[in-house]
Amino acid sequence: MTKRLLLVGAGHAHIEVLRSMKEKPLHHVNVCLISPSEYFYYSGMVSGYIEGIYSLEEIRVDVKRLAHQAGVHFIRKKASRVYPAFKKLFCQGGAVYPFDMISFDIGAKSQPDQFVSTSDYNHINDPSKQMIEQLKELRQTSHPLVIGGGAAGCEMAFALHAYKNKNKIPGQVRLVSTSSVLDSVSKRNARKLKGIMQSKGIQMWEHERAVTVYDDNIMTSANNKIRHTGVLWLGSPVADPLFETSGIAVDEKGFPFVTDTLQFADYEFIFGVGDCVTLESSPDLDKTGVHAVKQAPILCDNLRRFAAAMELTVYEPQKVGLYILSTGMKKALLIYGPLTSYTKPAWKLKNKIDREYIDKYK
Ligand SMILES: Cc1cc2nc3c(=O)[nH]c(=O)nc-3n(C[C@H](O)[C@H](O)[C@H](O)COP(=O)(O)OP(=O)(O)OC[C@H]3O[C@@H](n4cnc5c(N)ncnc54)[C@H](O)[C@@H]3O)c2cc1C
Repeated sequence: MTKRLLLVGAGHAHIEVLRSMKEKPLHHVNVCLISPSEYFYYSGMVSGYIEGIYSLEEIRVDVKRLAHQAGVHFIRKKASRVYPAFKKLFCQGGAVYPFDMISFDIGAKSQPDQFVSTSDYNHINDPSKQMIEQLKELRQTSHPLVIGGGAAGCEMAFALHAYKNKNKIPGQVRLVSTSSVLDSVSKRNARKLKGIMQSKGIQMWEHERAVTVYDDNIMTSANNKIRHTGVLWLGSPVADPLFETSGIAVDEKGFPFVTDTLQFADYEFIFGVGDCVTLESSPDLDKTGVHAVKQAPILCDNLRRFAAAMELTVYEPQKVGLYILSTGMKKALLIYGPLTSYTKPAWKLKNKIDREYIDKYK
């Protein structure tokens, strides 16, 4: 009997599932991809786009086309609730989709809900069309403010700075971070990055939280008033409420747990990957695109195995990751364990890796 598989979200792992199905179709399984956007915008290349190095076509994948080539039905909708007991997915607007197996790769949001109405520049964590448009406006302004000192926040601050510099737009890029910048790497590497930001004149407020956001300034937890000409929120990942409102067990931040086989802890027919889930065995794993990319082949394999009632394979997160953070003007800071390199070849390597990655889906 034909089974029905729903892929929810066109994230890093699901575009790999599409590619894999294009090469090797999944027999006796009817596959649908549900996503609010027809494009996947590759976050690794967004800073290069904002700086003016890449074109829009270079940084995005036409998901609808890829789905079509893979024999997968594309549905442009946003999922709002899942009912595991009835094996049904509800989408915004009221559409309901039954399934036998379902996989979530919906990412996370980067802005706490209480601030969503306070800024013009709000968006989900993955770079969407809306975010790209907003960034293009923001880079023209004199004092853009980035909220969030993680890798994405720092990289976007560098990209905005580089664009402004190249186009002689007066002013200064600003960044506020609740922790010290790039606190996920060693103190030594974080200091190095901070030094690069200071040398470029990017103004930073560390260990300060944005408390209130107004049209032209924010107030921080240290009672600082920071003026801005637009805010870009790239704070800690915030979970989609979909799982919690569906009665699924979630961690204290609202992310559902998955096992090493990438199945939901309580429902073996629900898979989850990337930023939208927490790995039970490594709950402190950073939410970055790298993990979604590494989980992708395991997910592809396990969806096939589950459909054929075979034993599943296990995902093991890498111990030491390679981080290459673009700092603008085709230079990057490469961090690999204790090794660092702040050079143009580091950027060239990032460019090569990113181009090879996205070309697989073109
Ligand atoms: C500007 C920026 C730069 C970044 N740079 C890097 C970097 O250089 N390296 C790195 O590793 N990480 C980077 N990140 C973080 C990275 O983008 C995320 O960690 C990554 O996108 C997570 O991948 P994912 O596959 O989990 O989901 P995503 O790639 O976020 O994809 C989620 C998909 O789900 C869809 N979706 C969302 N909600 C729903 C719903 N309810 N129903 C259906 N579909 C839905 C979205 O439209 C999207 O298609 C950056 C983030 C930003 C914002």
